[in-house]
Amino acid sequence: DAAINRIAAGEVVERPASAVKELVENALDAGATRIEVAYADGGKTLIRVTDDGCGIAPDDLPLALSRHATSKIDGSDLLDIHTFGFRGEALPSLGSVGRLTITSRADGFDAATIRVAGGAPTPVKPAALSGGTVVELRDLFFATPARLKFMRTDRAEAQAITDVIKRLAMAEPHVGFTLRDVSGGGEGRVTFRADPETGDMFDALAGRLGSILGREFTENAIPIDAERDGLRLTGYAALPTYSRGAAVAQFLFVNGRPVKDKLLTGALRAAYFDFLSRDRHPAAALFVTCDPHLVDVNVHPAKSEVRFRDPGIARGLIVSGLRHALANAGH
Ligand code: ADP
Ligand code: MG
Repeated sequence: DAAINRIAAGEVVERPASAVKELVENALDAGATRIEVAYADGGKTLIRVTDDGCGIAPDDLPLALSRHATSKIDGSDLLDIHTFGFRGEALPSLGSVGRLTITSRADGFDAATIRVAGGAPTPVKPAALSGGTVVELRDLFFATPARLKFMRTDRAEAQAITDVIKRLAMAEPHVGFTLRDVSGGGEGRVTFRADPETGDMFDALAGRLGSILGREFTENAIPIDAERDGLRLTGYAALPTYSRGAAVAQFLFVNGRPVKDKLLTGALRAAYFDFLSRDRHPAAALFVTCDPHLVDVNVHPAKSEVRFRDPGIARGLIVSGLRHALANAGH
């Protein structure tokens, strides 16, 4: 019910950027190839995510708003429910802390819309939409004023949204992303854009990193491809000469999800230890992939920590994979 949703929301939704993350992940899960995110006032008054994914059938719209009614756990996954620890929480949570409207059209169905604002959802109504899904979240935390106090300036919240979009855009180079600030109303202003990349994983990632981090990064980066005990490491790491004064260009992903993890950043630093003075930081976009049983990425829904079954293997893979690649590049 509403109270439980609101408590869960405190776990899932900390700020506008966490709502954006959940909504864009849903669009990606729905197989979208183009995703547009619009926000106003740092996302506090409006977040709107539009995708061209598979859509939601009218009868399923109320389900999308009920807790744990995820469509993403099939029979086989039920055995591994711990890896989906926070499944089916995002939309009910968002509907309990803001005014949420979902409009969608699935193949073979008419478009329909549903709305919820701090209580029970309205009945499903017909709508006009040619395909995909539009999720609009207005007035985040209007029902929980205490949380409003924790929001930072519009500028800081907009920056956090941009960071989330850039990380997700790196993880999905074949998907096109547009980010728009519509604070003034109307079409607004495009603040970030990445067109869909083509080619294999490395080509697509190089293209995407070029549009996010700039050509200077890609021209100074070497491809990484290493494996150890069931863990694979791919991506690009910059040569030590392209190090930064702050750790702002470190992007780490585990099984396709952006993470911020001390073990992994520590390993990255260790790999460059011989080449960088203490005030310089390596730049890299690295992807660890492995069997989902070897890592828990759902330690906490809003935090992007991970827990490897064997942390030593993950660390060793990064240190040796990067050192090897750097050595091949003459370091
Ligand atoms: P979860 O993503 O963990 O399943 P959510 O609360 O985020 O839970 O979403 C609930 C359900 O709503 C999803 O399982 C999916 O069926 C549907 N859904 C949400 N967003 C979209 C979208 N953009 N396109 C298609 N279906 C969606
Ligand atoms: Mg979700």
